[in-house]
Amino acid sequence: MFNSRVGTSATLLQSLTRRTIPRQARPFLFPPSTRLAPPHLRRRSFASSAARPNTKTDWRAMAENDITQYLRQTHDRVFEHNCRWAADCKAKDPDYFVKLSAGQTPEYLWIGCSDSRIPAEQITGLEPGDAFVHRNIANLVCNTDLNVMSVITYAVEHLKVKHIVVCGHYGCGGVKAAMTPKDLGLLNPWLRNIRDVYRLHEQELDAIADDDARYNRLVELNVYEQCRNVVKSASVQQSFAKNKFPVVHGWVFGFNDGLLKDLKVDFEGMLKDIQKIYNLTES
Ligand SMILES: [Zn+2]
Repeated sequence: MFNSRVGTSATLLQSLTRRTIPRQARPFLFPPSTRLAPPHLRRRSFASSAARPNTKTDWRAMAENDITQYLRQTHDRVFEHNCRWAADCKAKDPDYFVKLSAGQTPEYLWIGCSDSRIPAEQITGLEPGDAFVHRNIANLVCNTDLNVMSVITYAVEHLKVKHIVVCGHYGCGGVKAAMTPKDLGLLNPWLRNIRDVYRLHEQELDAIADDDARYNRLVELNVYEQCRNVVKSASVQQSFAKNKFPVVHGWVFGFNDGLLKDLKVDFEGMLKDIQKIYNLTES
């Protein structure tokens, strides 16, 4: 069923197999702290920080003192950015935080992957207060996961969100790991949910000869199935019967062009379909 030639996500495996950082005598050069730079030269983006070691080899090349310094810098940098962000917000609108403190009425519930490259607000232009966000590996909605089910219930019943978006992404390490015949320990039961998606669509997926195309299609089918799981929830079914919202959407983000693809999930058709078996609208 699965193709063993498809490699497990390097990122995922690195995080699974990262070992204690070894001692090394060779020093590592760091960029000067942004705190020392004049304001007009300070970096505006955390992601643009230079000289960040990103391979196992880089870590092994670092002396213990350098590692300590690097950890302090990467910690402090977040607070520097936070101070600048808060000051910018206040400069644009002196009442910004007064309004933010008043409460939230988000229009969207975003269920996305934990992948660090897909920040929900930044890729959609949404502002703080616009989206209630839940993220986990491979954007899964499992009915035994108290976390995601609590998020959905709260978002629908209390925040009255109008849209629920399940957003997957091409190149998802979780999906790729699930396509790999390996024992990943604690991740096995989580990734089993994606293997179940493969089983449900085995015929279609097995008919795709190209490895990348089959992987991309599994990403999309996983989003479809997680949308279906959202629709199966009592809160969504009952709210839609009463209010005609929320509507459930399935999207996929692409790293190649930074664009979101709308899978155009037929929400009402899906709702009608699942209610034959999963109808929870009667109390
Ligand atoms: Zn992912």
